[in-house]
Amino acid sequence: MHATYQFRGSTTKAGYERLDDVLRLSRFLYNAALQDRRDAFRRRSVPREDWDARQRRLELDAERKTAAADAGEEWTPLRGWARGRRDLPDECLPPDVPSVPTRFDQMKQFTNIRKDDPDWSALSVGVGRGVLRRLDRAFQNFFRRVKAGEKPGYPRFKSAQRWSTIEINEPRPSMIRDNGRHYLIRVKGLPLIRMRKRRELPLDRKLVNLTITHRGRRLICNLTYEVEQEPLPPTNAAAGLDVGVTDRAMLSDGTAFPRRPPRAKAIEKKQKRLSACRSGSRERRRRARILANAHYRERVRARNETHRITTEIVRRFGLVAIENLNVGAMTASAAGTMEEPGTNVSAKSGLNRSILEQSWGMMRQQLAYKAAWAGRELIAVDPAHTSQTCSRCGAVDRTYRSGKEYRCGSCGLAMDADLNAARNILARALAGVENPERFADPDPPQPGEAA
Ligand SMILES: [Zn+2]
Repeated sequence: MHATYQFRGSTTKAGYERLDDVLRLSRFLYNAALQDRRDAFRRRSVPREDWDARQRRLELDAERKTAAADAGEEWTPLRGWARGRRDLPDECLPPDVPSVPTRFDQMKQFTNIRKDDPDWSALSVGVGRGVLRRLDRAFQNFFRRVKAGEKPGYPRFKSAQRWSTIEINEPRPSMIRDNGRHYLIRVKGLPLIRMRKRRELPLDRKLVNLTITHRGRRLICNLTYEVEQEPLPPTNAAAGLDVGVTDRAMLSDGTAFPRRPPRAKAIEKKQKRLSACRSGSRERRRRARILANAHYRERVRARNETHRITTEIVRRFGLVAIENLNVGAMTASAAGTMEEPGTNVSAKSGLNRSILEQSWGMMRQQLAYKAAWAGRELIAVDPAHTSQTCSRCGAVDRTYRSGKEYRCGSCGLAMDADLNAARNILARALAGVENPERFADPDPPQPGEAA
C-alpha cells in the first residue's frame, strides 16, 4: 500500500535557480524523447492508398477471426482505417521498419547519452529516468483512453509553463535525512531542500516515489512510501454517500458534511485583472502569480476539507456506497439533470462548479485508497435517477424532487432530497453485494463516537 506525504520545501536563492536549470534540462529531454516516439509512430503508419499493406491487414484480420472462432473466443478486429494514415500491427509491416522505442529502449539510450554529457552526468540518474517514465505514463494513459473509446489528445510537447516537476525514478531512502527540526532532501545535482517537519515520515520504509515541484515561489515535495495496510476494527455499518453539484455531502444515516463554497468570485476577479493587463508586461506576470496562488490555496483548502470528510466516513463504515459518476460526464450532464435551475445551475458560476467537480474527483480518489488501506468496501453504483427515486416505496418521478426537498407523491415520504438520494445509493450497493445482511446495523455509530 502506498502513502504519499506532501511537504512544503525551501532552498537557497541559488538553489531555486539550480532547480530551474534542471527543469529546463529535463524538459528538453522530455520533448526530445517524445519527438523520437512520434517520428517512429509516423514511420510505421502507411497511407490508406497502400494497397499491399491493406491487403496484408485484411488477410491477417481474416486469420484472426477464424482462429478466434476455433478457440471460441471473441474476435477483435485490428484497428480500422478511418483516418488517412494508420498504425499497423507488426505483422503487416515490412521487416525493416524500426519499432517504436519503449521506455526501456529510451532509458538505455539515455544511459549512453548521460556518459558523455556533463550536464546529465552531474545529476542523479533518477532525474532523467523520471522524465522518461513520465513520458511513458503519458503514452500509456493516451492508449488506455483510446482503447476505452475516448478521444484523448496525443501526448504534447511541454512548454516551460507546463513543466514544473522533477520526478526522481527509483529514489533511494537515503535521499531523505532527518536533522531534528527538518527533513532534508539530498539528491545528486539538486540543491539541498529543507522541509519543516509537520508530520513524521516512515523513513524505515521503502521510498517509491519522490517529486519536487517548483511553481511560482513554492516548492512542493511529494514523498510516496510503501507502508503496510492498517485495517480498522471491523464494523457492519454501511452508508450511502451523495455528493452532487451541491455544497455538501450527505450520508444515508443523515450525517451532512457542509462544505465551504469555493471563493469563485475572488478568483474570477483576479482572472479579470489579469486579462486586463498587456501581455508580456511585468504587471501581468505579477497578476498571474497572484491568480495562481489563489487557485493553489483553493485546492489546498478543498483537499484538507475532503480529507477530513473521507477519513471520518472510512472510519465509521464497513461499506461505503457512492455514485459511479465520472467527472467528464458530470460536466456534460450538469445542466440537464438539475431539476431546479434556480437553485443549482444558474446560481453557481461555471468556475464554482468546476472546482466542486474537482473536489468530487478528489473525494472519490481519497475514499478509494483509504478504504483499501482500512480494509473497507467501496462500491460505486449506477447513478441513474438516484435523486428522483423514492427511498421508501421506489416510485420514480422527477417532479418529486424540488430543490433540497423530496416529497413522494405515491407514499407521502417527505425528506431532505440529498438524504433520500444517499439512501437509494446505499440500497443499490447492498442489492449487489453478497450476504447484504452483514451490513444490517440498525444503529450505525454517530459522528464523534468510536467506530
Ligand atoms: Zn414513496
